[in-house]
Amino acid sequence: MRSGAAGAGSFLLDLLYPRRCPVCHEAAPFGKDICPECRKKLPLYTGKRCVKCGKPVRPYESRCEDCKKNPHFYTRGVGVYIYNELMRESIAYMKYKGRKEYGEVLGRLAFEDAEACLRSFRPQAVIPIPLHKDKLRQRHFNQAEEIARPAAALLGVPLLSDALIRAERTGAMKELSAAQRAENLRGAFKAGRRSFSFSRALLVDDIYTTGATVDAAARVLREAGVREIYFMSVCIGAGFMVDY
Ligand SMILES: [Zn+2]
Ligand SMILES: [Zn+2]
Repeated sequence: MRSGAAGAGSFLLDLLYPRRCPVCHEAAPFGKDICPECRKKLPLYTGKRCVKCGKPVRPYESRCEDCKKNPHFYTRGVGVYIYNELMRESIAYMKYKGRKEYGEVLGRLAFEDAEACLRSFRPQAVIPIPLHKDKLRQRHFNQAEEIARPAAALLGVPLLSDALIRAERTGAMKELSAAQRAENLRGAFKAGRRSFSFSRALLVDDIYTTGATVDAAARVLREAGVREIYFMSVCIGAGFMVDY
């Protein structure tokens, strides 16, 4: 469903600019934002998850190796889809090929697919992981904000895009270890407002890999007085312990 535009406006928009499906990248069927058969291809993880970070774990484990070793500043979270080739491509189209609209679609679908879990967190505000202003200028939008928008709307809580500020530019982190990532992100965020009037927040990002980004953001919110910080990411990044 198209959000925002309604009725005749939406009909015309669909006619003039058919939405692209975030899986096959072709025009989606009329009035839809994903092909029904592509919807079924989204790699939802339904097995056992780490009770802390939500990464896949073996049946006899409750926490993943990473969470056993490293304490986190956030309370709990979930990455909904496995970061496979399909998701990698979809997110790359969104971030680097101008398919901004994929953000809202993937955000809504991820929310639907993890709805019971996300509602059980009872967040009072949704906070996207911010981009540095230089990067925002380059990309024109923050993908985390696009992903977060439907989650906030469906939860009926405010979307606070100014709650956190990306204070420093952080380099690409693909090649870094978990410890190097955490170090790289030290001081990366600061609180965007002086006080927070809620005690439970849901952070939103596109991919959760080592958790360094979410953790750095959660730490700032903690220090600002938010007591419980949860996260939702569209994907669980590589590096988990179970083979598929
Ligand atoms: Zn499709
Ligand atoms: Zn974990």
